[in-house]
Amino acid sequence: MSTDQVIIAGGGIGGLGAALMLARKGLRVTVLEQAPEFAEVGAGLQLAPNITRMLDEVGVLEKILPLSVQPKRLVFMNAVSGEMLTTLDLVDARRRYGAPYIVLHRSDLLDALREAAEAEPNVVLRTDHRVTKVEDRGDSVVVTCANGAALTGQLLIGADGLHSVVRKEIVQDEPVPSGYVAYRGAVPVEDVDRRMDMDDVVVWMGPGLHLVQYPVRAGKLYNQVAVFRSQEYLEGKEDWGTPEELDRTYAGMCEQVRVAIPSLGRIKRWPMADREPLTNWTKGRISLLGDAAHAMLQYLAQGAGQSLLDGASISTALSTLGDGAWAREDVDRALARYESERVEAAGNVQSTARVWGDIWHVDSHVPMILRDEAFRRRDTYDYHLVDWLYGPVREGADAGNVPQPVGGDAPAEATSAPTPAHA
Ligand SMILES: Cc1cc2nc3c(=O)[nH]c(=O)nc-3n(C[C@H](O)[C@H](O)[C@H](O)COP(=O)(O)OP(=O)(O)OC[C@H]3O[C@@H](n4cnc5c(N)ncnc54)[C@H](O)[C@@H]3O)c2cc1C
Repeated sequence: MSTDQVIIAGGGIGGLGAALMLARKGLRVTVLEQAPEFAEVGAGLQLAPNITRMLDEVGVLEKILPLSVQPKRLVFMNAVSGEMLTTLDLVDARRRYGAPYIVLHRSDLLDALREAAEAEPNVVLRTDHRVTKVEDRGDSVVVTCANGAALTGQLLIGADGLHSVVRKEIVQDEPVPSGYVAYRGAVPVEDVDRRMDMDDVVVWMGPGLHLVQYPVRAGKLYNQVAVFRSQEYLEGKEDWGTPEELDRTYAGMCEQVRVAIPSLGRIKRWPMADREPLTNWTKGRISLLGDAAHAMLQYLAQGAGQSLLDGASISTALSTLGDGAWAREDVDRALARYESERVEAAGNVQSTARVWGDIWHVDSHVPMILRDEAFRRRDTYDYHLVDWLYGPVREGADAGNVPQPVGGDAPAEATSAPTPAHA
């Protein structure tokens, strides 16, 4: 039995990021991770300027930059015809938002967070600790693990992912399956039949599917994610989204897309699900962050980043509570501040991600023509539809430093077309 200020259930990117940021605010934290080690899946991650700006402030960005790639463009392609539809300039985006857009291996981010957390004297990291029971006793919270360990804290943060146990203390709901499945992995760049530029993050959009490609680990590995709507799921098959269905679904795509599919791992697949946005993440001395609070579909490439923003927000909110016993009303006030900063903001990202998925995956003729036309008419320097997410825009960014569009043939009135963010 030990007493902590904050106990975090779950040592993924969200949990470890929060532990680090809480410790930097002088709070004592224990992280309980169910797995035998802190580990991430062998795939890539994109972090947009709204996330890297914050990581810079807490000193993590400088640790991950050498292992990251800073792509020059987001490129959107039609997966059937092979046509390039639009691009978003990421070099100018760095000036606009004051922080880079980066792509990196998930393990490189997780390791950087773990190492930084381990270096903090106020952080205790425990593996093989699966949280099974949570009890709010009014003046403290008691967390019990499958291995028999019991910890008492002033506050429990559930950072235990999509299938969160802690979330059940706040709301009785279930993940919302999308019927889509992902195959993904980062492999040595020389093992991929790569057709696209290493400076680009590429999104191929097709009927009921998309493929994302980008380099990670300073360009040594190439990350690919193939996602598709499973017909087998719609037919009610138990074993849906199989590798055979992956091959069948992508068989009708253009050659650049087809050649990518064999280098994807077949052993593991990820059925995609999210959660309905909540209006509160807190009950008494229990709160949530990351996927436990706001699991989202990956189409805006923001889930992990939003979990890090949660950590920054809750650590600032709790930092006012001091070293003694935390009175319940003070905890309430701090968590209300956290929720006012984060619940609606993350909920907007959750809801918008669903819409982006619908736009990418349209599968009937006329909507596809309209989507492609809207994408084609975009200017590569048109950021106005991602400003809400990547911003705030730095003062003066719109005045004078926006280069002319490549080719210069985008009609001026076309800038209201959707600017696609991506995952
Ligand atoms: C295909 C795909 C692509 C994506 N791309 C991006 C992207 O480009 N950018 C981005 O920002 N996000 C992306 N995401 C989303 C991102 O992966 C998640 O939002 C992020 O990993 C959530 O982090 P988390 O720490 O909240 O949860 P998780 O990563 O799920 O971590 C939860 C941790 O809690 C542990 N745990 C679970 N239950 C318990 C328990 N009872 N007791 C103790 N420990 C427990 C788990 O073992 C795990 O370590 C993508 C997701 C997918 C599926």
